[in-house]
Amino acid sequence: MKQMYDKLGVSAEVYGYGEQILRDLKERFAEVDAVAEYNQAKVLAAMQKNRVGASYFAATTGYGYDDVGRDNLERIYADTFHTEAALVRPQITCGTHALTVALSANLLPGDELLSPVGAPYDTLEEVIGIRPSTCSLKEYGVSYRQADLKADGTFDYDAIRACVNEKTKMATIQRSKGYATRPTFSVKQIGELIAFLKSLKPDIICMVDNCYGEFVETIEPSDVGADMIVGSLIKNPGGGLAPIGGYICGKKEYVNRCAFRLSAPGLGQEVGANLGLMPAFYQGFFLAPTVVVSALKGAIFAANLYERLGFRVVPNSIETRHDIIQAVELGSEAAMIAFCKGIQMAAPVDSYVDPLPWAMPGYENEVIMAAGAFVQGSSIELSADGPIRPPYAVYFQGGLTWYHAKLGILLSLQKLIDAGLAKLPS
Ligand SMILES: *Cc1c(COP(=O)(O)O)cnc(C)c1O
Repeated sequence: MKQMYDKLGVSAEVYGYGEQILRDLKERFAEVDAVAEYNQAKVLAAMQKNRVGASYFAATTGYGYDDVGRDNLERIYADTFHTEAALVRPQITCGTHALTVALSANLLPGDELLSPVGAPYDTLEEVIGIRPSTCSLKEYGVSYRQADLKADGTFDYDAIRACVNEKTKMATIQRSKGYATRPTFSVKQIGELIAFLKSLKPDIICMVDNCYGEFVETIEPSDVGADMIVGSLIKNPGGGLAPIGGYICGKKEYVNRCAFRLSAPGLGQEVGANLGLMPAFYQGFFLAPTVVVSALKGAIFAANLYERLGFRVVPNSIETRHDIIQAVELGSEAAMIAFCKGIQMAAPVDSYVDPLPWAMPGYENEVIMAAGAFVQGSSIELSADGPIRPPYAVYFQGGLTWYHAKLGILLSLQKLIDAGLAKLPS
């Protein structure tokens, strides 16, 4: 084994250090494996209930009327996440698009959107109009309020109460930390927040940005009162096989509006050819629970490995997980580049390229990204990225297999050590 890792660029010392860390993680790994087993059963039950057969994998083109594979997949998503309806489409191009559809379909001029969990994900700033953009919600007369989290990362209920008014129509709750170093919320915490919001205003629509959270726990935000959950298929629920797509699951009334917004008023869910993507969408969803647990093991390994070397990691080495993201605060741009180099070197695709910071559309700071993915930009595949700004944190996520995630983490450490930016304990 040591020789094999040596061939891939991992020194015997780094490999040995990794094995030492892994010896203490057996119990943690068994816990996350049990969650995957439960979620695998959940997905299988939904597939069996909806009588999946080979005819559902056929490609449709043009308008896509009577696309039985597409319609059945949406029932499977709805059954798995315990919602009335689901919109699962390749025409939803990414997570930001899915969130934009859910927001713009359900907010009308004069309405107000509330984020009770602080600043939203970077790309949503332009969607909402926090940073000016053409076609933002703000341009269409939708206002926005934000209640920041308390210093300890918990909900500021007083601030939230002060934000809710007669215009408040919808709350957007981001489950995952995104590019921030606040904690990710558990589904239970999200349920408490939703209950509080509904106690202030019973008809407030609660939408959860579920990106990176799917299948990390045995329940989803839709099990604790969320009216809509929204995510990307090139993250968790696509299982690494979906080459594009997004989903919105929730109450029929709201999902219908999303379908009208995505296609056109009057057309809604009836149109939208599947373009031959059904095999990937079905099989990807089937694989998603085990892919997610591979990514989780990578995140837990990285937290333990880097924390013991003195780096701040979020979540820390012992916390339970609510998404697949692992932040490692590296303290400098040079260390971010070295870390990303290691992840890139481990990839099955583009392992020979050097990642560099660049001004990516939708993001305020320069961003560095390491990804050697089969699907461009897929972050359920092993990837690392982060904005070049203090505390110079790299957000590490994904890994279609645990062994690949392990190699990536060992190589990231190798690169830091080679650059003199980290040192193994003596
Ligand atoms: C990934 C992500 C999004 C959407 O990003 P896309 O790159 O457009 O898919 C939104 N919110 C969070 C928390 C995310 O992690």
